[in-house]
Amino acid sequence: MEEAEMKKPEIDFEKLRAGKEVICPKCKTGIFRTEHDPKTTHNFKCDKCGMMINFD
Ligand SMILES: [Zn+2]
Repeated sequence: MEEAEMKKPEIDFEKLRAGKEVICPKCKTGIFRTEHDPKTTHNFKCDKCGMMINFD
C-alpha cells in the first residue's frame, strides 16, 4: 500500500546548524546555504530555487 502524504517540507534544522549540506525539499537539487555562520544565522537560502528558511 502506497499513499503519498501531503506534508510540509521537512528540513533538518540540526544539520543546517551544524553546517552540513541539506537538500532543498522543494527543488530536490539545491542545497541550503548562508553567507553567515550557520551556527548563528537566521537565514538560509536554497542555491537553486531560492527557497528561504527563516529561524526565529
Ligand atoms: Zn530549492
